[in-house]
Amino acid sequence: MELKITCIPGDGIGPEIVAQAKKVLDKVGEVYGHRMHYTDILMGGASIDACGEPLTQEAIDTAKAAQAVLMGSIGGNTSTSPWYKLPPEKRPEAGLLRIRKELNLFANLRPAVLYEQLAAACPLKEEISSKGFDLLIMRELTGGLYFGERKTVTENGVRKAIDTLTYTEEEIRRIAIKGFDIAQKRRKKVTSVDKANVLDSSRLWRKVVEEVAVNYPDVTLEHMLVDNCAMQLVRDPSQFDVILTENMFGDILSDEASMVTGSIGMLSSASLNDTKFGLYEPSHGSAPDIAGQDIANPIATILSAAMMLRFSFDLDKEADSIENAVKSVLKAGYRTGDIYSEGMVKTGCNQMGDLICDYIK
Ligand code: NAD
Repeated sequence: MELKITCIPGDGIGPEIVAQAKKVLDKVGEVYGHRMHYTDILMGGASIDACGEPLTQEAIDTAKAAQAVLMGSIGGNTSTSPWYKLPPEKRPEAGLLRIRKELNLFANLRPAVLYEQLAAACPLKEEISSKGFDLLIMRELTGGLYFGERKTVTENGVRKAIDTLTYTEEEIRRIAIKGFDIAQKRRKKVTSVDKANVLDSSRLWRKVVEEVAVNYPDVTLEHMLVDNCAMQLVRDPSQFDVILTENMFGDILSDEASMVTGSIGMLSSASLNDTKFGLYEPSHGSAPDIAGQDIANPIATILSAAMMLRFSFDLDKEADSIENAVKSVLKAGYRTGDIYSEGMVKTGCNQMGDLICDYIK
């Protein structure tokens, strides 16, 4: 198969970690008989320096012409970098917001996996962490409170701020379909999270999710209130497979789920539209404090590349081979600095990429 991929190395550690992901993809191509065609584009600070804006139209067109986008991370040190003296719409993050909008990426997927070998990094009690967990948060990304009308007014000398939370049934249906489709590729359970005891938007959410569920008789659906879900994530995260939720609840719950894994350098993510197209990136930022030192952990980006194979190209076997290679490398005791513990073998970013390639079968 020929795979057309646009890469955004970005800023900070971005170019280092994307280089490792490309290396691993090339190895997968070699073993499984696929050809990767990469085109790099600039975004964020790198694009500001070269083109005077965080994302050019040409870069957007290049991204749209590919089948998927693989990104490192963008942004610099927000206190010291000159990029943050620019007006907000010219800063690095404006590039990311624009590309998400241009590509109509409405579904955000963030897996939170506790690897057996990294269980010590989990901040939960051992009786909970010893069960391990492998869940995925599917968050609606372009609707709800963050995109509703907002204003601040002064009434009778008192300031008042108003935000509106709106969802149409179509917005709910398309994310629910994605959630159920992906659950079918996993352990076939969807937990739909809402606040249906209070919010109308949540009551509609629940109804539409139930309508969609009818078409997926092999997937178990349960509903959970968001406050309960926040508790369950620390009480017993192993109960979850796919958590399907709206924008703001997903924003908060996905950070909570990341924290309980304890290792930011291991967390991948994907943002999808209603075709097979997606943008894949690590959940962490550009880590300017460690950029250029060959010490960053490339695993989150490598696992994002695995998600890309699975969701944009339907190459499940190939995606499994990357995920298994990561587990094997951890099992063999190799660790980058961020996940290092005594008795393990410390490796750099580049070496970690090589090791994962060695285990691709
Ligand atoms: P960060 O995630 O970049 O770093 C937080 C801490 O984790 C740092 O100590 C860093 O060294 C460490 N870290 C992060 N990724 C690592 C990795 N792969 N290996 C080893 N250590 C790692 O968060 P921050 O410092 O708050 O933000 C830095 C910049 O990244 C900012 O400009 C921010 O806006 C940007 N950012 C971009 C994205 C994105 O591109 N999607 C997301 C978050 C933050």
